[in-house]
Amino acid sequence: MNAREEAFKEVLQRNITKYIQNKEKLANGIIDIFGINVFNESTMIKYLPYKAYKKLKKIIDEGGVIDEELAEAVAHGVKEWAIEKGATHFTHWFQPMTGLTAEKHDSFIDFDKNKIPIYRFSGKNLRQGEPDASSFPSGGLRSTFEARGYTAWDPTSPMFIVENANGATLCIPTMFLSYNGEALDKKTPLLRSIEAINKTALRILRIFGNNTATRVYPTVGAEQEYFLIDKAYYYKRPDLVLTGRTLFGAPSPKGQQMEDHYFGSIKERVLAFMQEAERELYKLGIPVKTRHNEVAPAQFEIAPLFEEANIANDHNQLIMEVLKKIAAKYDFVLLLHEKPFAGLNGSGKHNNWSLSDSEGNNLLDPGKTPHENLQFLTFLVATIKAVYKYGDLIRASVASAGNDHRLGANEAPPAIISVYLGEQLTQILEAIVNNKKVEYTDEQIIQLGISKLPIILKDVTDRNRTSPFAFTGNKFEFRAVGSSMSIAPANTAINTAVANILDEFANEIENNLNQGMDLNQAVMKVLREAIKESKPVLFDGNNYSPEWEEEAKRRGLPNYKTTPEALKALISKKNIEAFTKFGVLSKKEIESRYNIYLEQYSKLLNIEAETALMIAKTMILPVVQRYQKELAQNISSLIAANLNNELIQNNKKLLEQYSNNVKELLDKIEKLENLLTDIGEEKDIQKKAEYYCYKILPAMNDLRKVVDNLEKETDDAYWPLPKYREMLFIC
Ligand code: ADP
Ligand code: MG
Repeated sequence: MNAREEAFKEVLQRNITKYIQNKEKLANGIIDIFGINVFNESTMIKYLPYKAYKKLKKIIDEGGVIDEELAEAVAHGVKEWAIEKGATHFTHWFQPMTGLTAEKHDSFIDFDKNKIPIYRFSGKNLRQGEPDASSFPSGGLRSTFEARGYTAWDPTSPMFIVENANGATLCIPTMFLSYNGEALDKKTPLLRSIEAINKTALRILRIFGNNTATRVYPTVGAEQEYFLIDKAYYYKRPDLVLTGRTLFGAPSPKGQQMEDHYFGSIKERVLAFMQEAERELYKLGIPVKTRHNEVAPAQFEIAPLFEEANIANDHNQLIMEVLKKIAAKYDFVLLLHEKPFAGLNGSGKHNNWSLSDSEGNNLLDPGKTPHENLQFLTFLVATIKAVYKYGDLIRASVASAGNDHRLGANEAPPAIISVYLGEQLTQILEAIVNNKKVEYTDEQIIQLGISKLPIILKDVTDRNRTSPFAFTGNKFEFRAVGSSMSIAPANTAINTAVANILDEFANEIENNLNQGMDLNQAVMKVLREAIKESKPVLFDGNNYSPEWEEEAKRRGLPNYKTTPEALKALISKKNIEAFTKFGVLSKKEIESRYNIYLEQYSKLLNIEAETALMIAKTMILPVVQRYQKELAQNISSLIAANLNNELIQNNKKLLEQYSNNVKELLDKIEKLENLLTDIGEEKDIQKKAEYYCYKILPAMNDLRKVVDNLEKETDDAYWPLPKYREMLFIC
């Protein structure tokens, strides 16, 4: 039995009852378990002195510094709570530049002078940790002699307990910084960008006469797509294990053509997995709401309700971790890669984004009065202009080797970042530019000074699913984030871009007011100019069509299809200014990120290329040579049996064709090997990434083509890798 047959056998022996044995245990109401593993407000009230709770709450809501006394009180309270819940260890939970989360556990146990064991957790332990930073990517931010970095508690994201089979750990969300205060992680810039939004959006609210809101923050709801395959197949595919995607695999005759998976009924084992995963997420206070089958076979989605951007980011990291962990219990492996299977839909993360004030008002929700609508339009147009001016930066924020298979590969969504508004809003913006009335019925129009604004109806019906940045009624949906990525960089980019434009708007409006215009005139003038300028970014048509590519080019919109190309935008003068203006990232921090992302890209492609070679040489070649020999032996026996010439010729033709494919395989292996040798010690990281992108990747694709052809021609019993039709349909 070869490896593939073994896997197949294992899968067929799975017994569904094994996975539903704990149904009883799962019967508790989900309301009762929601947030039980979170040090949330109700828990804080219970475990903290009231004064400490009030102080902490104020800092969470309004910012401020946590002093030693408060840290001690919180540390004590959270320790008592965590130990009651069975935690033995605590960890600073952080998000280094790897895109994953990191943790280093320390025990609550300590020993007093007499070596008697005691529980101890100090304010200092809570506030700051010192993991050895030397093995995390820093992109040149840390010199080797200063390997230390430190983690600093982020009180705006609640602490939580992660349960494992044999214990539990208290996790403290933290930032990760160098000793010079430079961000070594993805959370710190996100927090700074949230502050930039707060500062600039509040200015706009004040201009509109809102003096009660104390804070504005971005809200995010990230829909997460993923694939599930049986673990037996997974472990027989070195490409999946090492790179997260299949580097080979002929298409299955049936793929997603029948459109029968999307929203289809969920298979028993998958549903059992989803139910347990959701319970774990509820315990962590993560408001997951929706689950369904996605377009590709074996593809699924989970979506939470939206939350403050910082918390949504932490929660998305947890969703990815919990899903993976629970999937393993059901003998599945969860694939987060953006393109695990060629020829089928990839996975992304729809990043729903909006702005909220401290009173809970959604600033991108059209209001009921003209005054509210003018303010709504201001935030709407600011976001449009931000996407226009900083589209390249937003594109760079989602650039990765995995995501290149989606963006820029004629798949959803495209690499051209445009905005979809829908018919009504498009008309309104046009009317503002042309300074003319929109043709609406009387009841739809509200007098507003000299201009007329229609009542803006919340439009949730006519959505353009092909748009990468779509306005969907009361929020924007940014659809280009990759499924395996942290959502922090994308939101950092969007927040930074919008904050810069809001700042511009506030300056211009104030200027206009100072020149004697009334508020309506002052705002309208700014909006008119911004709409005119940003018009090229508005697109309501089919974003996947080749015509749009042509059209976008004419409009001067960037179309960066590859990561090495897209990343250059990070270090452009315009974008460095945008980042530094509000202290989201310093020039040095930006450059370090550019370095890290380029290096990650090259390293990843190197691993992919080496894995492809390994599979081709040690798994495919021996098998196809064996089959080739068999075809040849068959001809010998036909000759020996003295069969007619035509029959022998037919078989010779078959052997010849097959042998040509085998020769082609040898050629492509050699070509890829040579290319990998040729790169040598390229020092220029941009050039190196481009080499991998434009030389290695095409050579890998050529190799794949030959192998996939051979898969279609070789005796099924010989083929060593689980096939698409098995991984995607048989579980
Ligand atoms: P879909 O896009 O699948 O049709 P919805 O439009 O109802 O579904 O919502 C999708 C996601 O948008 C959900 O995760 C939801 O929480 C999120 N969302 C809704 N309102 C906001 C908001 N104001 N800010 C951020 N995200 C939001
Ligand atoms: Mg959506």
